[in-house]
Amino acid sequence: MKRKIALTLALMLIVTASSGQSPSRQMSKDVAIRAPSRINAAQLLEDVKVLADDSMEGRKAGTPGGARARAYVVRRFREAGIKSFGSSYEQPVKLSPERGDGAQQGANVVGYVGGKEKSNLYLVITAHYDHLGVKGGKIYNGADDNASGVAALLAMATYFNRNRPAHSIIFAALDAEEGSGAGGRAFVSSPPVDVRHIVMDVNLDMVSHSDRNELYASGTYHYPFLKPYLDAVAAHAPVKLLLGHDDPAGSKRDDWTTQSDHQAFHREKIPFVYFGVEDHKDYHQPTDDFQTITPDFFTRAVETILDAVKLLDEDLQAVESKRTR
Ligand SMILES: [Zn+2]
Repeated sequence: MKRKIALTLALMLIVTASSGQSPSRQMSKDVAIRAPSRINAAQLLEDVKVLADDSMEGRKAGTPGGARARAYVVRRFREAGIKSFGSSYEQPVKLSPERGDGAQQGANVVGYVGGKEKSNLYLVITAHYDHLGVKGGKIYNGADDNASGVAALLAMATYFNRNRPAHSIIFAALDAEEGSGAGGRAFVSSPPVDVRHIVMDVNLDMVSHSDRNELYASGTYHYPFLKPYLDAVAAHAPVKLLLGHDDPAGSKRDDWTTQSDHQAFHREKIPFVYFGVEDHKDYHQPTDDFQTITPDFFTRAVETILDAVKLLDEDLQAVESKRTR
């Protein structure tokens, strides 16, 4: 209860931040109160270890390895207390024929954690679970890309299942991001709830590998009203939370606006925040293994993302009111 009041106070400070009040004083109290960690670090790493194991054969969409990864994600959804919208968590995803390997179908894994408030507003958290598969006889395990994002999604679902959010949160582990983004498009084109009630997407893609302790939040160039929330989190984050990689004036490579599943939401004018690290030496290499991620940074990055999601959830009505449709 004391925390709820503290958080709401922090929010009011954010809304009135323009009046020169800094939210950081309130956040510093929260940070001090936060320990012990809200994230089970051992489980977080275990999820990456399992998904990035050779037995998953690089989790390519439409392959047996992809299906094995999905079965694991479905099991973990259940364990985390995520509810399914219907009898199954799986949402079929049609794969593009251009792939040339004859695989036709993949599937997203989708569910939700109910909110405390009687509201039809939803926040969506996405992370793709597929990766590149086997190429040239080498398995691309994709520990950072993106077993880490899926593990972070599961950790936050576990947290919110125990600490009810204000609004319902939809969790979507997406398929077929690599090479096509088909999973993200399938979700946005037929979401489990009325698309008008989806206020925003928080997308996680590569959140476990940084030697510089730097995590990026991308999207505020397009949705500047989200900036005060991220600034408040950045002020006390246990990692360097940097905003950027969304300015179209920059190089194509530098602009991440269309480089992961948040693009499908952005195309429908649904605001997004994309959390990710800058490309590293193991990006899209067979060396992107469990052994090359940076575990301490990873746990701190997930704590930081959880802070951002909590703040946005608490003020989702205001976020909704600032959206332009
Ligand atoms: Zn990725």
